[in-house]
Parts: sequence; C-alpha cells; structure tokens
Amino acid sequence: EASVGDLLAGSARRYPDRVALRDGDHTLTFAELHEQALRFARGLRERGITEGDVVALHQPNSLWFPVTYYGILLAGAVVAPVNPTLPAAALRAQLDEAGARAVVTHPATAATLREAGTDGLEPVVLVPPSDAAPGDPAPVDGTVPLAALLAGVPEPGPRVSPDAVAHLSFTGGTTGRSKAVEVRHRHVVANCLQFTCWRAAALPAVDLDGGVFLDPVDGAATEYITPPGEGVSIAVAPFFHAMGLVGQSIGVLSGTTVVLCGRFEPGRFLDQAEKFAATAIAGSPALFHALLAAPSAQGRALPTVRVVNSGAAPIDTTTLRALRTLFPRACVVEGYGLTEATMGVTSGITDPDDLVPIGSVGLPVFDTDVEIRDLVDTGRCVPDGETGELWARGPQITAGYPGHPELTAEQFVDGWLRTGDLARCDERGHVYIVGRAKDMLIYKGYNVYPGQLEEILSGHPAVAQVSVVGVPSAEAGEIPVAYVVARADASPGAGPALGEELMAHVSARVAPYQRVREVRFLDALPTSAAGKILKAELRRTYRPSA
Ligand code: ATP
Repeated sequence: EASVGDLLAGSARRYPDRVALRDGDHTLTFAELHEQALRFARGLRERGITEGDVVALHQPNSLWFPVTYYGILLAGAVVAPVNPTLPAAALRAQLDEAGARAVVTHPATAATLREAGTDGLEPVVLVPPSDAAPGDPAPVDGTVPLAALLAGVPEPGPRVSPDAVAHLSFTGGTTGRSKAVEVRHRHVVANCLQFTCWRAAALPAVDLDGGVFLDPVDGAATEYITPPGEGVSIAVAPFFHAMGLVGQSIGVLSGTTVVLCGRFEPGRFLDQAEKFAATAIAGSPALFHALLAAPSAQGRALPTVRVVNSGAAPIDTTTLRALRTLFPRACVVEGYGLTEATMGVTSGITDPDDLVPIGSVGLPVFDTDVEIRDLVDTGRCVPDGETGELWARGPQITAGYPGHPELTAEQFVDGWLRTGDLARCDERGHVYIVGRAKDMLIYKGYNVYPGQLEEILSGHPAVAQVSVVGVPSAEAGEIPVAYVVARADASPGAGPALGEELMAHVSARVAPYQRVREVRFLDALPTSAAGKILKAELRRTYRPSA
C-alpha cells in the first residue's frame, strides 16, 4: 500500500550515500534526492499547490526532472509530464487537457511556454540548469526560481493514498492525437515492483556479476566486477514518456545510479557510458540505430554494459546482432508496454543463448495476464500461434482516459485493457508483437502485416532503416509500400535498381499477396520524440507516382 514517494524514501534509507543521479560533475545521492524533493514539495505547498492539483513538467532530461517529479508527488499533487519538444499550440492544448495549475519549465524550453501562454497557470517555476549564472533574466514572466522553492526545511508531506492520481501521462501520439491517461500511485508502484521482480528472477541467468572480457581485436583480457545492485544506467529515454519515467523509478527502487547525458548525441553518450562504467542502457530501437550508425561507435566495444533495454517499438534482428558488437557482454531485454498499462506488460531476454526466441517480447510480468483474442469476436481467444489482438490484465492497468468515458469504455473492458496491438503466443506463452491493428493492411482481401515485411527488409545489407505502410489502391484495396533509408555504403545506392532488388528480396521470402509493391527512399524516417516511426505521417504524404 505504498505511494511513489515511499519508493524514494525507502531508497534514501537503504542507500543514503550512493549516487542516485549524475549530470556531469553535479551529483545527488539518494538521501539528497529525497531531501531536495521534500523541500520542493514544501515549496509547492507554501505556494498553494494542494493535493490533487496538476503540475505539468515541461523540461528536457536533467537532474532537476526527478527532483521536481518526486517533489510534486510528495506534495500529494499530480504530475503531467509533457513533451518538451512540442510546438506552442500543442503544448497549450496538453496543459489545458491536463488541467494544469502550475508548470515547471527549464531555460531550454521556457521560450515555447511563453509563446504557449501562461494565463490560468500559477506559479510558473523556472528550473535552472546547474550552471545557471546568478542574476540570469527570467525567461517567463511570473517565474518563481527553483532555489526559492528549495529554500524551506524539508518536512514530511501529507500521507498519499495509493489510490491517488500520480500521473496524467500522454500517450506517444503515434497513431493520432496524444491522449491523457490517468495513472494512480498504486499502478506505478505495481509496475516498478513487477519489473524489479522480473529482473531479480531473470537477470542472474546472464551472469551480471562481472567476469573477464576478451577484446575481440587484440585478445587482451580485462576483468569487470559489477557489485550486485550497484548498477549504473545511462538515461537517454526521455523522462516525459512512460518508458523513461517509470524506468527511472525502477532504477530508484534498485539503487541504480542514473547518469544523464543531455540531448542525445552518440559520441557523448558512448564517452559517458565508458567514463562511468555504465552497466545498463535503455532506449528505443530508433535510438540504437543512431548509436550504431555513429562514426564514434565503429570499432568500439563497451564491455561494462550488461543489459540493453529496448522498448517502445519493435526491434529487428539485424539491430539486435549489431548491438552485440558494440556491447559484447550485454543481453538485450525487450519489453512491451503502453502508457495505458503504466509502462510495461511483458519482458524477455533476447539473447545469443535464446532464453527467449528472437522476435519475442517475452512473458507477461508478474501478476499480469495476457490473452490473444479474435479481432471481431472479442470474447474468444485464438489458438496458440494465431494472430489476434493482445488484451492485458494486471495491477498496472490504469484507470483510463479522464474526461473521455466512451473511449475509456472501448479500451478498458471488465478489468482488461484492449491494447490495439496484434500479437501471437507460442505454446510456452512467449508473446510476439505482430504490429498495431491500425497498421495492418488488406491486399485483395488478405491481411498483410507490415512488421513481417520490415523484419525481412531490415535483413538486407543495403537497408539502414525501414517502415512499411499500406496505401490505398483502386485495384487491390491497399498495397504495401516500403520507405527505406539506405546505408551510406550501399551498392547500388538508393535508386530504382536497389528498389527492384529489395522487392525481389521480399518476394523470395513471402506469399505473393504479401509482396512489397513499391520502394521509396528517404534520408530519414519521421520519428516521434519517444522514438517511434510515424507511419501515419508516411501514409499522409504518400502520392502515387505518375
Ligand atoms: P498513441 O496511442 O497516442 O497513438 P502510442 O501508441 O505510441 O501513441 P505509447 O503508449 O507511447 O503510445 O506506445 C505504446 C505502443 O508502442 C504499443 O501499443 C505498441 O504498439 C508499441 N510498442 C511498445 N513496445 C513495443 C515492442 N517492444 N514491440 C513492438 N511495439 C511496441
């Protein structure tokens, strides 16, 4: 019966002097993080923020994000994390939808907030970067500096009920407009405990306690020791999104040091991971693509990294293999989840030893049921191996979309969450995500799953990234079109010859109705801030060739 603040309080007692957060040379221990959060909570209450008030967090990843996040929760208020890269109008719409009373921003994001307008919001809190010069002008009128909110003596806040709302979290907006989801304290605590239990049960199988790394180039032996529970994780997944936000609390629960490295830049990321001997990283496949393609990653190996957490979107086999070269002693943990389930539903190790078959997102986490149901006859489960819609039930399934009872009733049925994702299960219960139901296309009456074609195309050596979408066709209803980013060294390069070659590569591996009918080349695929390819954007901009 704990609240999210209790997780932090527990870690402050268990690991008071361990570094919880590191941003360059600036560090906060678990005891300091808790103390700063209590001060911030007090500062908010003294400025009139009370239980149930919504405070938006509008800032990039920084040390102050967790301080203010826990501070808001310890005050009994509700956190609404908003994407700091949103343009002003979209930001204003999210602030209004969340019913925010106050917003915490940062100098890097304050200009958009000013443009979005702050009427109706009080107080606006400015979070300074650790190196802010004293006397810097306030970029937003009415700003209360962070220092003023941290000035009071820390004191325990109100007792927060596990049933109180903790977050109003926005979905990724991949298929349309983001929706706010009501996440209660008990959902966050449950999901943190589920993943902590999963790790305790699954990760010892991959020998996390160090060992000897043999350099693949010169054969030199280096010994690595990772004391149990003293992990160092590099935070690149954005904190405003479910994966980064709940992932960060899971780190707090297990006493992990989180190293921040500002805006994602592959070289800096790898340098920081090396410098602080990172044991874990987490991100989306889009982030891993960027990392693997960076010049600074070539010929490099980071043996201290033992766990690579991938989530938010499907990861292809080629990327999985490439990650093994960069992180030769790591296993890749793939998780599947969605904002409506707080964060995570399943987890599995996709490893050289095939603890979980490649392509699977593992088993449901503790106390979670997954059913694969018929898309139309939703009361019926399909047999193992057949594709249907994934339904999930467990203590992390949230309360729905506040203010949208009809939408909530459609997605949340009798304690089950209808995910909108197509999946299948094998006879051992391993879950395979096939793709979103909305992305499935129908070619002359046959179902075609873009994910399957993407997996095949990503295995071609000329393909760096790919997304397949269905576009309207007078003759066939819909046809699959592949959008491809070609590798810089591909021969032939992006052009009709490579397009033909890629279509032939697919045709040799699928039934005729599944063939890719057209290949288009792009320099980059449109990607959301959470690292998901925006298929709707590709479909919207598609024009048939003359
Ligand atoms: P919106 O609901 O606003 O369109 P969104 O679906 O991207 O956006 P999120 O909650 O951020 O909202 O993302 C959840 C979705 O991400 C899942 O429903 C699923 O489609 C996809 N996803 C998450 N993890 C994985 C994974 N490991 N493999 C494949 N897809 C995944």
